[in-house]
Amino acid sequence: MKKYVTLSYDDGAKFDRPFVEMLNAYGIKCTFNLISSSMPPSDREAWYVSREEARELYRGHEIATHSLTHPHLEQLSKEDIEHEIREDIKNLTEIAGYPVLGHAYPYGTYNELVVDTLREIGIRYARTVKATSAFDPPEEPLLFHPTTHHRNPEVFRLIDEFLAAEPKDHDLVFYLWGHSFELDRGEEFNSWAHMERVLKALSGKPDVNYVTNMEFIERR
Ligand SMILES: [Zn+2]
Repeated sequence: MKKYVTLSYDDGAKFDRPFVEMLNAYGIKCTFNLISSSMPPSDREAWYVSREEARELYRGHEIATHSLTHPHLEQLSKEDIEHEIREDIKNLTEIAGYPVLGHAYPYGTYNELVVDTLREIGIRYARTVKATSAFDPPEEPLLFHPTTHHRNPEVFRLIDEFLAAEPKDHDLVFYLWGHSFELDRGEEFNSWAHMERVLKALSGKPDVNYVTNMEFIERR
């Protein structure tokens, strides 16, 4: 049995640039959930990361879908859900240069139709926003609940608990999620300095595997 750390950050804002730099410095991998219709072709001044730079920026991490236009998927017809996901997969697969088959639910919301449609399309896993404060692998990968958001004041206690835990009958995963743009707010638990402390606490442990969401799902 093994231990894993994985991250999932949404929306693909320009703040991903310094965030990726920080992740790379600590050897931690992240899945970035992108909204392809928001991405400009090449504009580096835009709020969203551009299509042109995304492949290089996110190299070594994972690009995943967050839907084409970030709607509440559970309010859509099956046909519209399919359009939102299939078009995003198509755009992001072209951008990434590999098949994009991970997902994070926009707003964290879903219903049975959404989950069933993702499964039919071939999505391998989908992240919710329901923090568990636990380290268990998902029973249903299409309802992959994260351990915690980075702004949880308990995040360091959870990291300590995870690092001290021994995997016995199943693997353990510390799954952190958020948005890089939140880090620019400069609050106590929502700032670049806070994130650096979080990454430092998680990084460099010889018994921990640092993986993207898909690498975790495909682990052996
Ligand atoms: Zn989002």
